[in-house]
Amino acid sequence: MAPLLKADAASIERAALIIRSGGIVAFPTETVYGLGADALNSAACARVFEAKNRPSFDPLIVHLADRGGLEGLVKSIPPPARALMDRFWPGPLTLVFDKSELVPDIVTAGLPTVAVRMPAHPVAIELIARSGRPIAAPSANPFGYISPTRADHVASQLGDAVDLILDGGECAVGLESTILRIDDDGAFLLRPGGLALEEIEAVIGRVADASGPRARPNAPGQTASHYSPSTPVRIVKSAADAGPLTGNEGLLSFRGFSGEAPFAAVETLSPAGDLREAAARLFSCMHRLDSLGLGLIYAEKVPQEGLGRAIMDRLRRAESPSVDRREGRPFPD
Ligand code: AMP
Ligand code: MG
Repeated sequence: MAPLLKADAASIERAALIIRSGGIVAFPTETVYGLGADALNSAACARVFEAKNRPSFDPLIVHLADRGGLEGLVKSIPPPARALMDRFWPGPLTLVFDKSELVPDIVTAGLPTVAVRMPAHPVAIELIARSGRPIAAPSANPFGYISPTRADHVASQLGDAVDLILDGGECAVGLESTILRIDDDGAFLLRPGGLALEEIEAVIGRVADASGPRARPNAPGQTASHYSPSTPVRIVKSAADAGPLTGNEGLLSFRGFSGEAPFAAVETLSPAGDLREAAARLFSCMHRLDSLGLGLIYAEKVPQEGLGRAIMDRLRRAESPSVDRREGRPFPD
């Protein structure tokens, strides 16, 4: 059972040390308790998914203590986004930017964009500032459970899966954050939340609603909430089952490949067969194979346990992208 500590200078410092060394910490925000990891550490972020026992990957929101941290994480900051940050940060407004190379693919579930916000909670801000890292965090509940608004909710639901729980009292039970994408084509509401659309429009003018399933599916701000490779993918039990091979196929191997088959390129998820490492590498391996202009990517199955379920979910969506589009996000938690 993880220590449950009342948030004070000493416990926050201890939590910050855990974040810096790749651990995961539950902490209060103004919305709900978050399950945080160093957003720049893929393996630590894989642990967040593992702890939540979620059968799929979902992009995580990156939490910052100040605006200075934003520059390195994103490619550019559109002027309307600056105006909104001036007005509403810290607070329940998440902005989606084109991501920089620094942000690991697992944080964004392979998307080229990253969602960022600054929470309005002194404990969250202090933790992020002391750890010196942006903190990627979903809500601190296991898949299928309601979002926790008190530290003892986290303790009973996730106590064995996290390294430390910071008790900051009850969250001002809020809505989730409002998520907005701003790019050259305008401003798009991706998820309604704690900050009203009217307040946003009072600052930057009209915002298009891209939050519904039928809302402009091809709107730039709404490019699917999940990354899918453009190269066709076929799942096989092992590389030996791939074929016929023409020399234009890639292999996404679980533990590595030493056979004779003429794959044009091979990416290995985890030579040691470690599902956490495999999850941490999954999206970057897929991106590399996808960038080679191959005719087909064979993907080896991974064991259906722990993070293996989320990896297999991702591979199946890549194999049948139309299923991905139809189902949207089937695993709300
Ligand atoms: P939460 O459950 O409050 O942590 O919010 C996570 C939400 O942010 C999920 O619905 C994600 O789909 C959304 N999200 C995170 N990153 C992105 C992104 N890059 N683009 C669009 N939506 C995102
Ligand atoms: Mg959630």
